[in-house]
Amino acid sequence: MNKLLEIKNLKKYFPVKSNWLEPMRFVHAVDDISFSINKGETFGLVGESGCGKTTVGRTVLRLYEPTSGSIVYDGNDITKGDMLPYRRKMQIIFQDPYASLDPRMTVGDIIAEAMDIHRLSGTRTERDEKIHDLLTLVGLSPEHGCRYPHEFSGGQRQRIGIARALAVRPEFIVCDEPISALDVSIQAQVMNMLEDLQRDFQLTYLFIAHDLAVVKHISTNVGVMYLGKMMEITNTEELYKSPLHPYTQALLSAIPVPDPKISRSRKRVPLEGDVPSPIDPPPGCRFRQRCKYAMPVCSEADPVLKEVGPGHWCACYLLEK
Ligand code: SF4
Repeated sequence: MNKLLEIKNLKKYFPVKSNWLEPMRFVHAVDDISFSINKGETFGLVGESGCGKTTVGRTVLRLYEPTSGSIVYDGNDITKGDMLPYRRKMQIIFQDPYASLDPRMTVGDIIAEAMDIHRLSGTRTERDEKIHDLLTLVGLSPEHGCRYPHEFSGGQRQRIGIARALAVRPEFIVCDEPISALDVSIQAQVMNMLEDLQRDFQLTYLFIAHDLAVVKHISTNVGVMYLGKMMEITNTEELYKSPLHPYTQALLSAIPVPDPKISRSRKRVPLEGDVPSPIDPPPGCRFRQRCKYAMPVCSEADPVLKEVGPGHWCACYLLEK
């Protein structure tokens, strides 16, 4: 399989304004993470709110400039320099479809805006035909092109966001929590549509979600993030069958099971306390304040993400014994 995206030692720190007498402090939003995505596959990136997964998605697209590390797209280093040649190929679907759509523009103009920028619109008639085709593709009707975003439901607005991303014929899409703001009743429809589009257009996804249950069906591999660090990476089947990191185990045990018998017999791993501050975190495992297995070594140095089985990577001292 060809790698489409390769991230190595990526860091994104945000400066925090403080008293001018005090030294500058930094939010370590993304702190030295590495992963890769093969062409046509989906990498699910999971973790609680504030773990840095959205920052990863935006830094990969260079909407945020990386602090250090490298981003290689289809064999080309895009960490620095002009992103314009890659803007068409690399798109994003946002979590909040309403906030990401300009309320003063018609849906047709919103979809066509990127086509116009990349000179893909063609003549007026061709442009209109492309808008109609895209609206039909995402389950809307061509007449919807003349309406404004406020006239649509949340699910329909997300479909518009997807049509806008597809308008420039991308290869890679960052799906940033695309269903978390939608009603449960339409989440499955949007997920199925994203899977169909991936198959039909050979798309590669970085799929960001806070819930491991959401990424299970769409992801080829899954990475679990906690406070800016990657804690575990493996293929989806392995992660759900044999999670190794205590944080992954806690996240998985919190997924509701529809069968009451299985639910009663299942052992829950409680996740207590809050996520600590990401501002200049002290050395050691970032999860140690909430980990029931924490040992003295866990507060001395960061555990390194190591391959503990074929294709299974985990950052935990428990696995180094
Ligand atoms: Fe828990 Fe230590 Fe493993 Fe961190 S390194 S998850 S604190 S056992």
